[in-house]
Amino acid sequence: MTAEIIAVGTELLLGDILNTNAQFLSQELAALGIDVLHQHVIGDNAARVAELVNTAKQRSDLLVFSGGLGPTADDLTKETVAACYGDSLTLDEEELAKIEAFYLRTGRTMPDNNRKQAMVPVKGRKIVNDHGTAPGVWFEDEQGRCAVLLPGPPHELTAMWNEGVRPLLAARTGGTLHSLTLHVLGGESDLETRGGALFQHEDPTAAIYAKVGECHIRITARGENDEDAKARCEAFAQNFYDLYGDAVYDADVPALEYTVVRLLNERGWVMTTAESCTGGLVAERVTNVAGSSEVFRFGFVTYANEAKEKLLGVSAHTLATEGAVSPETAAQMALGALRAADADVAVALTGIAGPGGGTPEKPVGLVWGAAATRDGVWVRKMTLGRRDRDNIRRRASQHALDLVRRLAAGLPAPEDTTAYTIPQVEASRTAPFAR
Ligand code: AMP
Ligand code: MG
Repeated sequence: MTAEIIAVGTELLLGDILNTNAQFLSQELAALGIDVLHQHVIGDNAARVAELVNTAKQRSDLLVFSGGLGPTADDLTKETVAACYGDSLTLDEEELAKIEAFYLRTGRTMPDNNRKQAMVPVKGRKIVNDHGTAPGVWFEDEQGRCAVLLPGPPHELTAMWNEGVRPLLAARTGGTLHSLTLHVLGGESDLETRGGALFQHEDPTAAIYAKVGECHIRITARGENDEDAKARCEAFAQNFYDLYGDAVYDADVPALEYTVVRLLNERGWVMTTAESCTGGLVAERVTNVAGSSEVFRFGFVTYANEAKEKLLGVSAHTLATEGAVSPETAAQMALGALRAADADVAVALTGIAGPGGGTPEKPVGLVWGAAATRDGVWVRKMTLGRRDRDNIRRRASQHALDLVRRLAAGLPAPEDTTAYTIPQVEASRTAPFAR
């Protein structure tokens, strides 16, 4: 099967937004074994969309559209493509009721132009959208050539793809498909290089997606039935577990904090946080997980030196001689929080999130993390580069959660992390760690 991707939106042509949907769709189609011949970006213009569709459908079995399903006058993809596929649109009362209910829930009445979003194909089918107002649509002409239209907002497009479109395409391309997503800590290029031929494999396939502070590896296998596809998927995943070891933190989870909360629960541990440069981000991530009250009671945001001293008992001498951004301060913050919260594990972060405040010795992106248990303290140096503040904070929180994960799971200290005894940390109140 061959396909083309058509991203519709003048804002894409103007460079206002990045065409991330095309990247996602290309990766997905490749994983299904469908050859993507072209990617297009086109403005919200009916005549040009029609011209492109008529050319593309001559050479490709499937056209996948992103965007243009909105309620406004410039969103005309659906009508235009319907005509190209010999179909037309009709009002779907069920969709209309859903859209009206959506407005009602948010205390508004539905503007009249939203009726347009409830229009669905007469011959084709609609693709349910449980994440927004506009349904997607699927057209098919007499020759069996198909077009699938999905809304532009990436969270809607990806969810509808996973729930509604991928299963349809998988059925057409033979057998059933099963996917699983490994979450791996590390950079994309390093993981990809080490993975080598695993990423070229045809069935199962493995696709790598870079995220902030981690990568996702989506493994997809074809099988005669669900069970068979799942077993093939899991067998292939084992190659990555063997290769990356404990850098693989979980499979099919929303994010690292979910794994951390699960591990803490299993261990019966309570954690606490002592955050400077992340301003509470680690605590925020942990408390995003439903049920986290079992493992987290409170944390500390100690931005100023005074707060580090007062709330966490960091020594004034250490702050004056080593500075707030130092391994000694990080270790004392973690140990102080552990005691103040009477927790089983405490994690601390102190660093320079930028854009200002860097020096040659302590550049922007330098962050010290520490994790304390009653047995000792681990200290990790993070050099997170001169990215933007948000990125540095996010990746620092990822490192911090990883330290907690490793301690809760009983894993050994990784190579980039030094383990200190509690007496050593106490001694750092008067003299720096031996380096
Ligand atoms: P639309 O469905 O065309 O009204 O698009 C709605 C919103 O989805 C836009 O304002 C963008 O924020 C987002 N969006 C649309 N197309 C894309 C795309 N190709 N990649 C990423 N985001 C997009
Ligand atoms: Mg648009």
